[in-house]
Amino acid sequence: MEKRDLLDELNANRVTPEEAEQIYDLYMDNLTAADPPVVEMLGFSKKEWTAHAHGAPFTVIGEWRKCGWPDRCFLCGQRIVSDDYGWFPREDEGKYGLRHIACPKVA
Ligand SMILES: [Zn+2]
Repeated sequence: MEKRDLLDELNANRVTPEEAEQIYDLYMDNLTAADPPVVEMLGFSKKEWTAHAHGAPFTVIGEWRKCGWPDRCFLCGQRIVSDDYGWFPREDEGKYGLRHIACPKVA
């Protein structure tokens, strides 16, 4: 299978969000141990892949790549460095954001 950059294709409207899901499923179903990891095959960074694994849609992650990642926890308002870990994406009032895994506000 060929390498692609799924989020760039999505951001450029070369694929629809539905097609992006289908491409993802196709690669997940068909890659073998001989292929590079799916993250690499589909052009994701580690944190993009992590965000998707925690349920953020590709459209949201594509937008973060284009416009910048959230840098505040939507629960407590304190800083989140998305290149470090300790966060997960959650939907809050219809919009995706990042929150601390161990947020002082809910501890
Ligand atoms: Zn927090």
